[in-house]
Amino acid sequence: MDLGIRGRCALVGGASSGLGLAVAEELAAEGVDLALVARRRDLIHDVASGIAATHGVRVFPIVADLADPAGARAAAESALRELGSVDILINNTGGPAAGPFETHDDDAWLRTFNLLLQSALTLTRTVLPGMKARMWGRIINITSIAVKQPVDGLILSNSMRAAVTGFARTLANEVAATGVTVNSVMPGYTRTDRLVTLATGIADRDGGDVADAYARWEREIPMQRLGEPREFAALVAFLASDRASYITGTSVPVDGGWIRSLL
Ligand code: NAD
Repeated sequence: MDLGIRGRCALVGGASSGLGLAVAEELAAEGVDLALVARRRDLIHDVASGIAATHGVRVFPIVADLADPAGARAAAESALRELGSVDILINNTGGPAAGPFETHDDDAWLRTFNLLLQSALTLTRTVLPGMKARMWGRIINITSIAVKQPVDGLILSNSMRAAVTGFARTLANEVAATGVTVNSVMPGYTRTDRLVTLATGIADRDGGDVADAYARWEREIPMQRLGEPREFAALVAFLASDRASYITGTSVPVDGGWIRSLL
């Protein structure tokens, strides 16, 4: 299927590893030029040159902390400057700390706001006017299965993903008549560094080992296996495509069946 986005330009957050990297690779394979944002200079430069060499697209590495409002704004402005326009925005960073309610003070909640919601607001605010002016845009938020079924022990993530989803669902209608779609994709347990961090935390807390945490997740997933970042990125690329022109305001899981609800 030709996704119809060759020559489009995308800004991808959290792109040096995991889901963001997989999305960047999938978009590059479709001929999309990229601005890739992450905090580690060497890593994001290596990733950018690797993707450019493999797929023959323009790829600009941008070093920024998206949890910092000034950093997020500067990153979006750099992307606009380097690419000329941003047609596709992938709102993504790392996840917040794990742990129950009593372990998080106000600073932890504020950090989570900055990491997940502020970053999406700031990047969107900077690139949306151009999308509306060109009457074409795709804004895709990487959220979590926690939006539909909260995950025990992840109160910061469970709460702030809901806020991101409320923002996205509302914005979708505000811009729907301008050719800009706004959707969210909810990853289930997918094989990235984030899961290593979560599994290590569970092993430390419960005294088991990391393999036990993975085995427990696999038992909860109807497909009995973790997802691969590539499987997640395939849906994101479709939602970013010209073919997805009538899909907006949705939250779609890629979770091997983990969410148990009907809808
Ligand atoms: P990851 O930790 O493996 O990768 C996150 C990427 O974002 C890294 O490249 C990291 O350097 C970058 N990053 C982190 N904080 C940043 C910041 N402040 N500014 C710029 N870049 C930053 O995570 P992942 O598994 O790829 O997950 C991506 C998102 O999806 C996270 O929010 C995560 O919580 C969520 N999620 C992941 C899973 C999963 O199973 N992997 C499940 C549900 C939700």
